[in-house]
Amino acid sequence: MDKKEFRNIPSVSALLEMPEVSELCASYSRPLVVSTIREVLDGLRESIAGSENTDTDLSPPAILPLVKGRLLERGKLPIKRVINASGVLVHTGLGRTPLAAEAIKGIKEVAEGYCSLEVDLSTGKRSSRGEHIEALAVALTGAEAAMVVNNNAAAVLLALDTLARDKEVIISRSQLVEIGGSFRMPEVMAKSGAIMVEVGTTNRTYISDYRRAITPGTALLLDVHSSNFRIVGFTASVKMEELARLAREFEIPVMHDLGSGALLNLETYGLPHEPTVEESIRAGADIVTFSTDKLLGGPQGGLIVGKKRFVGLMKANPLARALRVDKLTVAALEATLRLYTDSSASTQHLPILRMLTRPLKDIEEESLQFIKELSKRSGGSIAATLEDGASAVGGGSLPGEEIPTKLISISTEKPSAQELSDRLRQNDPPVFGRIESDRLLLDLRTVSNKEDVAEILNAILKIFTGVAR
Ligand SMILES: *Cc1c(COP(=O)(O)O)cnc(C)c1O
Repeated sequence: MDKKEFRNIPSVSALLEMPEVSELCASYSRPLVVSTIREVLDGLRESIAGSENTDTDLSPPAILPLVKGRLLERGKLPIKRVINASGVLVHTGLGRTPLAAEAIKGIKEVAEGYCSLEVDLSTGKRSSRGEHIEALAVALTGAEAAMVVNNNAAAVLLALDTLARDKEVIISRSQLVEIGGSFRMPEVMAKSGAIMVEVGTTNRTYISDYRRAITPGTALLLDVHSSNFRIVGFTASVKMEELARLAREFEIPVMHDLGSGALLNLETYGLPHEPTVEESIRAGADIVTFSTDKLLGGPQGGLIVGKKRFVGLMKANPLARALRVDKLTVAALEATLRLYTDSSASTQHLPILRMLTRPLKDIEEESLQFIKELSKRSGGSIAATLEDGASAVGGGSLPGEEIPTKLISISTEKPSAQELSDRLRQNDPPVFGRIESDRLLLDLRTVSNKEDVAEILNAILKIFTGVAR
C-alpha cells in the first residue's frame, strides 16, 4: 500500500472547497455530499491498490463528475417493486411476503386519514391499539391472551426482559440459533438481562438435562424452533408436552419461540408439517412468540400469545411502548388475521398460501408456455428448458423441506448466466432468479401474475437482442 498515487488523492476538504461542490451541498444536503465524496475517494483508493495503471487523473475537477454521478445514482435507487422468480416464498431480502388485497385496502384506508386506532367507537372512550388483533389471535390459537409488537425479535426480547431479567433461562444447546440480520439467541438473551443456562449437547438433549439444571434462580424454560437448519442423524430432543409437564412441577413458565408461526396445518395441503401456534398452546406452552410476516403472510409484526398473567406483565413493561406497532401494521394485520377465520378464504386470498399450494401442473403449463414464447420471439436463438426443482419456503419455515416445482432453465454463454442475472436485476422492475451450475433458473411459483411473467420474458429478450419486441 505504498503506491505514490495514494498521495495524489485529494482530501475531502479540497473537494468541498470547489464552488461546484458548494452548489451540490445546497441542493442535496452537506452530510450527504460529504459521505458521497468519501465513498468516491475510498473507491479510487481501492481501484489504485488493485491496478498497475498509474496515470489516473486524480485532480478535484476529474473527481467531481464521479461524485455527481454517485449522487444521482443514490437519488434514483429508492425502494421499489421487484419481481421474485427465485422460488423463495418468504424472502427477507425482498420484503418477506406480498400482502393480501384486504390488507392493502386496510392500509390505504387508515393511511389516507384519521382512524379509530385507540378509540372505542361504541362508547367513544379510549381503547388500546391492537385490541382487535389480540382478540383474533386469541380466537385463532386458543390462547388466553395476546399482544402485538413490531416483530418477533421484539416479542422475544420483551418476554425475556419481563419474565427473566437477572434470572436463569434454560435452553438446549441445539437451539442457540442465529436467524440472520443479527438475531442470535444468546445475544438477545444477554441484552434482555437474562442469564442463559445451556443444557444437553448439540445433537441430543433429554428432559433429565432440563430437570438437573433447574435451581431456585430459574425463571423460564425456553424452546426455540430451529428455524433455518436441521439436525439429522443421532439426535434426541424434548417435546413441548414433556417440557410443559416439568415446568408445571416446578411452577416455572415455559416459552416457545416458534419463529414462523403457522396458523394452519400445512399437512392439509399435502405440505410437510410445520408446528402451528395452536399445537404449541395445546401442548402446554405458557407463552408462544412468532412473526406475522413469515408463513402467516401479514405485515412485519410479532405476536405473543399465552397465559393472561404473563401477557399482562408484558403489557405493563415500559419497554412495550418502544416496541408498539403503528396504525398501518394494525390495519394490515387485522385484515390478514380476519382471513384466517375462514380457512378457505385464507388459501385463496393470502398470496403466501396461494403460492405454497399452487398446483405443480399450473406452474408446469405456465413455464412451458414461457419457454415456447421465448423461443418463438427470439427466433430460436435463446434456448430454455423445463427442469424439475424445488421452491423453498424461506424465512425460517419448514427448514430443509423443499416444495417440488418446475423451473425454467436458461444456460447461455453470451451473456453468461451471471451477466444475464445481473442485467435482469437492473431491469425496471428488477427481476430476481437464481443461478445454479451456470444456469439461470426461474421459478414461476413466486411470480404472482401474468403481467409479471410477460415482463420477465420481455426483459430477457431485451437483454439478448438489445431491443424489446
Ligand atoms: C424469524 C425468527 C425470529 C425473528 O423474527 P422477526 O419477526 O424477523 O423479528 C426469532 N426467532 C425465530 C425462531 C425465528 O424464526
